[in-house]
Amino acid sequence: LLRVKGALMQFGGLRALNEVDLTVRRGTIHGLIGPNGSGKSTMLNVLTGIYVPTAGAIEFVGKSVVGLPPADIASAGIARTFQNVQLFGEMTALENVLVGLHHTFDSNLAEVAIKGPRWKREERAARARALGLLNFVGLGDLADEEARNLPYGKQRLLEIARALALDPMLLLLDEPAAGLTAPDIKELLAIIRKVRDHGITLILIEHHMDVVMSTCDTVSVLDFGQKIAEGLPAEIQSNEKVITAYLGGATV
Ligand code: ATP
Ligand code: MG
Repeated sequence: LLRVKGALMQFGGLRALNEVDLTVRRGTIHGLIGPNGSGKSTMLNVLTGIYVPTAGAIEFVGKSVVGLPPADIASAGIARTFQNVQLFGEMTALENVLVGLHHTFDSNLAEVAIKGPRWKREERAARARALGLLNFVGLGDLADEEARNLPYGKQRLLEIARALALDPMLLLLDEPAAGLTAPDIKELLAIIRKVRDHGITLILIEHHMDVVMSTCDTVSVLDFGQKIAEGLPAEIQSNEKVITAYLGGATV
């Protein structure tokens, strides 16, 4: 589904990504792990068009997405969440998901605004779908709560619902379990698996190794912008290089 070749992202003299290759097969969950500052979030920013890579190729469903604006990449089928939750705090949970939905309806809306009844129908359909997505992540009962009033764990799930509103083929999650309690993480794991079972491919950045090991089909390890290992979770866990660079450290 996704093929990255020689991705280079340079910030001045710093190579946040140093010629990274990444291949993600359709229907799988690919873990992206590594120490703080190793380039994980930068990879997501490059994949979603927030940064244009200094060099390298990115093919998504066989087509290059390098240089496309973020909105076009989102329409092409790549959705994401952010390391720091980025919700519209004063809007309700439902409205936050509607924002995600309307993004894909954009071109429609201008046209249907003239045709009142059809607009209403579209709006009702969007609301029903938004509620469906909230139910999918277990937030159906909290649809009318303001996002800022939701517990942190629920906010993270709401971000996932909003990303799913784009109807993505590929969903990128940046440390979804960070700051979550053990029961929250259990709930998150079930949702991640459910997303995968719906045929959506995932890239999962995570410092919680239990989450990575129990969900990911394959794992890549970054260190100082370079990929130092790739393989099955069990291989990664026993890889000497990975243990030295990351797993042996205090952060895990
Ligand atoms: P963490 O686990 O802490 O989230 P990460 O692996 O996600 O780390 P990145 O955020 O990708 O790390 O950062 C990789 C490196 O690139 C860091 O040294 C960071 O300071 C640098 N970097 C990221 N974005 C920029 C930017 N816009 N300008 C300059 N440097 C940047
Ligand atoms: Mg990061």
